[in-house]
Amino acid sequence: MYADIIIDISHEKVDRTFQYRVPESLADRIQVGTQVEIPFGAGNHVRKGYVVGLGEKAEFDPGRIKDIAGIAARGVTAQSRLISLAWWMKERYGSTMNQALKTVLPVKQKIRQKETRLIRRLISADEAKEAAAEAGRKHFSARQRLLLALADTEEIPWQVAANQMNVTLSTVKPMVEKKMIALESETVLRNPEIGGEKQGVRVALNGQQTRIVSDFADRYDKGVREVSLVYGITGSGKTEVYMEIIDHVLKRGRQVVVLIPEIALTYQTVMRFYRRFGGQVSIINSRMSAGERYDQFQRAEDGQVRIMIGPRSALFTPFSDLGLIIMDEEHETAYKSETSPRYHAREVAVHLASMTGASVVLGSATPSLEAYTRALRGEYRLYTLSVRARPESRMAAVQVIDLREELKSGNKSIFSRRLQEAMVQRLESGQQIMLFMNRRGYASFMSCRSCGEAIRCPHCDVTLTLHFGQKLVCHYCGHESPVPQRCPSCTSPYIAGFGTGTQKIEELTRKMFPRARVLRMDMDTTSKKGGHEEILSAFAQGQADILIGTQMIVKGHDFPNVTLVGVLAADLSLYTSDFRCGERTFQLLTQAAGRAGRDELSGEVLIQTYNPEHYSISCAAGQDYESFYRQEMVYREVLRYPPVCQLLAVFASSGVEEELNRAMEDLKTWVTEWTGDGELQLIGPAQATIYKVNDIYRKILYLKHENYDILIQLKNNMENRCRQAGWHGQVAVQYDFA
Ligand code: ADP
Ligand code: ZN
Ligand code: ZN
Repeated sequence: MYADIIIDISHEKVDRTFQYRVPESLADRIQVGTQVEIPFGAGNHVRKGYVVGLGEKAEFDPGRIKDIAGIAARGVTAQSRLISLAWWMKERYGSTMNQALKTVLPVKQKIRQKETRLIRRLISADEAKEAAAEAGRKHFSARQRLLLALADTEEIPWQVAANQMNVTLSTVKPMVEKKMIALESETVLRNPEIGGEKQGVRVALNGQQTRIVSDFADRYDKGVREVSLVYGITGSGKTEVYMEIIDHVLKRGRQVVVLIPEIALTYQTVMRFYRRFGGQVSIINSRMSAGERYDQFQRAEDGQVRIMIGPRSALFTPFSDLGLIIMDEEHETAYKSETSPRYHAREVAVHLASMTGASVVLGSATPSLEAYTRALRGEYRLYTLSVRARPESRMAAVQVIDLREELKSGNKSIFSRRLQEAMVQRLESGQQIMLFMNRRGYASFMSCRSCGEAIRCPHCDVTLTLHFGQKLVCHYCGHESPVPQRCPSCTSPYIAGFGTGTQKIEELTRKMFPRARVLRMDMDTTSKKGGHEEILSAFAQGQADILIGTQMIVKGHDFPNVTLVGVLAADLSLYTSDFRCGERTFQLLTQAAGRAGRDELSGEVLIQTYNPEHYSISCAAGQDYESFYRQEMVYREVLRYPPVCQLLAVFASSGVEEELNRAMEDLKTWVTEWTGDGELQLIGPAQATIYKVNDIYRKILYLKHENYDILIQLKNNMENRCRQAGWHGQVAVQYDFA
C-alpha cells in the first residue's frame, strides 16, 4: 500500500503530495489524516507529514519509493481530520489543496485574552427598562440595546454583547461605575456539568416535537447515524427541537456544531442557546477578526466549548468528538461558498459527519428541492412539524394583488390602492409596517407592465438579461436579441427594464407618507460593522414606522408590533437567470408571510405582483410547500435541472480573448470525447453575466448528468488536461457544482 503525504501545511505549495510506502508493520494504524514521520529529500531528514490519500498503485518506479518511518501522533486528531476533509473538498469541488486548507484551517493568530466574559445585571428588570428608555432619549443606542436585552435576562456573555449587539467596553464602563451591571470573569460562566442545566430554560414540548426528539434519541443510542430533515413551518418550534437533540448528544459526551445563516444569527437566536446551555456555547461570525475566530476554535479544541454556533465556516471547528451537526434554514443560499473551493455546507456536513460518526439534522420551513427530494426517497429521515408551537400566534392573512389591474385603472405608483389603504390605517393606529423588495434592484431584465410577461430565452426558459440597455442576452446558452419596442406576447408598448432600487422605494415612500418615520436596510446601509443590528434594534424599539429592505429584513427577526408586510414586486426574484429563481421566490415570500402576525396582533401580508398565477407566488400566498414542490419538480424534470440532474459549470477566464476561445473549444472537445454510461448534456460555451471585467474575458460551459460522480470524473479529467494544455497559464479554469 502507498500513501500520499503532504509535508508542510503552512507552505504555499501544499498542493504537492509525495508518495511513500506503508510498511506492513504500520499498515493497520495508518489512515487518511494520520500524522506520520518520513525521510525527506536527499539527506533523508526526518520530517512530519499528513497522510491525505491511500492507494495500491505506485505513481513512479516502486524501487525509488521510500518507506514511512513511523507515526508522529497517536490516533486521528481534529487537525488531521480537517486536513483529510480539505483533501476531499479539493477533489470534490476542484480547487487547489492550498485553497482547501485555507478554508478549513483557521489562521493562527494570537489575540490578547479578554478577561471579562460575562455581563451581569445588578438592577431590577424594571429599572433596566426605565434606564433603556432614558438611554433611548439620549440616543445612546448601544446602551439602550444592552439594557433592553438585560431586562429579559440577568446575564449576557461578553462575546454575545460584543459580536451580536455591537456593544463595546466604552459602552459598559460607565454602566459598571454606576453599579447597573458587573463584568465577571469567564470561569463564573463556565459550567462543567455535562448537559448544562445551569439556567436550563426549557419549554414543555408538544406532541409533534416530542415524537421527533424521542425518535432521534432512540436511533442515536442504537448507533444509527443518518441525515434527518425537520420540515417545520415558521414558528413550529424547530429551535426547541434542536436544543433537546443537542442536549441528548452532549449527554453522550460528544460535541455539536450548529449552522445558522449569518443574517439569521441574531442576538435573540444566540441568547436562546446560551440560556439553555450556558458557557458551553460559543459563536463565530464573519465580522470577527481572524484572531477572534482562532481563539474560539482554540477553545473548542481544548474542550472548553462544546457547542459551536455560526455560519458555514463553523463546520471547521476542531472538535475532538463531533457527534451532531445541525443545519438550520438548510435551503439558504449563503451555505454555498462563492469562492474556491465552491462547496455547499450541506454536502460537507454530511461528509464530515460520516468521518466523525455524527448525525446531521437539517431544518427548514421551505426545504431545498435537493433535501426534500432525498427525504421523500428515504435517503434522509423526514420529520414534520405542521402546527405553530404557540397556539396564540396566528398565521397572517395573505392577499395577492395584481399590479396589471392597478395599471389598467390608472394607478402607476409602486403602491397598489389596497397597500396604500392598509399603510394609512397602520400609521394611524401606531402599528409598524415592513416593505420588502426581494432583490437589490437594478434594471436587469425586461418585462411587460400590461401582461406581466418577462422576456425569456427561446431555448432555456430563463429570463434574458438586459446588457446596458442595448441588448438581451441569455446567460445559459448565449442567445442574443435586440431590445424590442413592444411586448412580444401582447404588443403593449409598456415594457421596461425591471428593478427599482430600495433607495428609490424609500424616496417614494417618504413622498407619499411624509409624516411617517422610515428606515432602510440593505447592503448600503448595513455595510459598516454593526449597522445591521443598529437598524433592526432601532426598528424593534419603535423608532420608525416603516422598515424598507431587501431579504435581510425577513430573516429570523421578531417584531411584535409589525402587522403589515408589503411585498412590492414579488416578480423581481422570479426573473433572474438562475434556474432556482422560482424556488428563491417561493422561499422569500413564504418567509415574508411568516413575519407578520407572530403574536397577539394579527397580521396582514400583501403581495404585489404582475404574475398572480405563477405557482411560486400563489403557493407562497397559500403557505403550501407541497404544491410548490410538485410544480417546481415538473419544471426541473422537463429541463433536467438539479435535483433531477446534476449541473457543473466550468468557468474559464483570460486576458487574451483568442486564448479563452481556444481553451473553451478544447474543454468542449475533451468533454465530447467522453463515452460513459448515461446521457451527458453540454450547453455553451456562453459568455458570463459580465463578459469582460478588468480586461479579463469570461466564459462558461455547462455540463449536465444524472450522476454526480461522473461529473466529478469529468472535472478531474479536465483538470489533468488543463495542466498539460498549451494555453495553461493564460487561462484560468474554475468549477462550480450547482
Ligand atoms: P422555529 O425555529 O420553527 O421558527 P421556534 O423554536 O423559534 O420555531 O419557536 C417559535 C416560538 O414558539 C418560540 O417563541 C418558542 O419559544 C415557542 N415554542 C416552541 N416550542 C414550544 C412549546 N412546545 N410550547 C410553547 N412554546 C413553544
Ligand atoms: Zn405584454
Ligand atoms: Zn438560452
